[in-house]
Amino acid sequence: MRFRNLTRRLDIGANSYLFESGKHRVLVDAGMDPKETGLKALPDMGPLPHRAANAILVSHAHHDHIGALPVAQRAHPDTDVFMTEPTGEVGTAMLHNSVNVMTSQREEKAITEYPLFTHRELDENRARYVYRDLDRPFELPDTDITASFHDAGHIIGSAGITIRQNGGTLFYTGDVNFEPQTIARAADFPVDGIDVLVIETTRGNYQRPADYSRKAEKERLAALIRETHEANGSVLIPVFALGKTQEVMLMMHELHEEGLIPEMPLHIGGLGTKITVLYDHYTDRTRRNYAGFRLLEDVEMLVPPRRKKGPARRHIEYEPRAIYALSSGMMTEGTTSNQFAARFIDNARNAVAFVGYTDVETPGYRLRNARPGEKIRLAPDQHEVPVNARVASFDLSAHASREAIAEYVEKVRPKKVLMVHGEPPAQDWFAARFAETLGRETEVIRPEPHMAIDLW
Ligand SMILES: [Zn+2]
Ligand SMILES: [Zn+2]
Repeated sequence: MRFRNLTRRLDIGANSYLFESGKHRVLVDAGMDPKETGLKALPDMGPLPHRAANAILVSHAHHDHIGALPVAQRAHPDTDVFMTEPTGEVGTAMLHNSVNVMTSQREEKAITEYPLFTHRELDENRARYVYRDLDRPFELPDTDITASFHDAGHIIGSAGITIRQNGGTLFYTGDVNFEPQTIARAADFPVDGIDVLVIETTRGNYQRPADYSRKAEKERLAALIRETHEANGSVLIPVFALGKTQEVMLMMHELHEEGLIPEMPLHIGGLGTKITVLYDHYTDRTRRNYAGFRLLEDVEMLVPPRRKKGPARRHIEYEPRAIYALSSGMMTEGTTSNQFAARFIDNARNAVAFVGYTDVETPGYRLRNARPGEKIRLAPDQHEVPVNARVASFDLSAHASREAIAEYVEKVRPKKVLMVHGEPPAQDWFAARFAETLGRETEVIRPEPHMAIDLW
């Protein structure tokens, strides 16, 4: 069994990985790089000839894992795509949104290759979607390979993937959280009999304070919301439409029930609403906390979102003493949170609360790291705005801490660890830790793009 990283760069970009054994080829994830545009945003599928994939497996429905799936399916039209049912259904909504975003970018930014796929293609592609439950091994067509999905605790439907062939076993964590979030429960991963681990390393560069607790972090967020409310301001929480929007909705509900924040209107954005409908649809059928709870009906603070067709970028009105959970989480140019922030951060009564990962080079990162009063530009076509609002960050990530991932690897004690989905400094931390804890028993590998790595 041989591994190749099809990501173009060593960071969190267009995740896609190829597993080859003899004539058999399995593609795991086909993501798009959120920091790139046009064809550069796609993985480099060069080593995978057309129509050669026996199966495509998708870990979860975030853009950096599923965004290029239609492009992969065009190259492998007869290949089945295996995933959990929520990943397939939520992924479909994400990809349709992606067509809308690409279509407007084609005009705004003159990216002539956009859209890279169409709504019609997405409808046709569904014929190849094959849904599999968690923890049930299944065979990949015309191969001697079996696979299984295991709850990754990251977002709805997210799964780590086991691949077994000829006595060898590998496990790909995908994006994982080993601690429970508000909705998502902790990952439920296998630990025995794994020869090779492919791990995400997103937070390797982040040192969590020794006295960290999620509860204290939520209380700190509640205090910011209370103080902002008292000051007659509003709170903007930039969130991913998928996962973080729903987590924040339920968190606000909890904080209000606990008497930690006052009754105040909660606004969510367009794509976030569509995804929330699916979270509610699966409320009894996915492993989660608050099973049966319906976000759109049971979160009383929620301002009922207006149903509207078209791209999820409608103008959001500002009102004082409200909470805005708007996507995107990294405040990417052209998104609702980016546009809203331009009219929001110059008001000293307001506050911005970051609750997730922001990549360097993104507007979210710039705002998060700005000095009070510093003028920043959120998008090239916008004026500079002074950062007068309070800006605070909270460790409520959907990704595991680096310690939790390291402890998992140390429990598994695989022969090989392949590090993906992280910046080089993040991987340096893991490499140093494993050199101490695993020694020579485990080979620690950073797979360069396209480098062939023999697993067994
Ligand atoms: Zn993810
Ligand atoms: Zn990811």
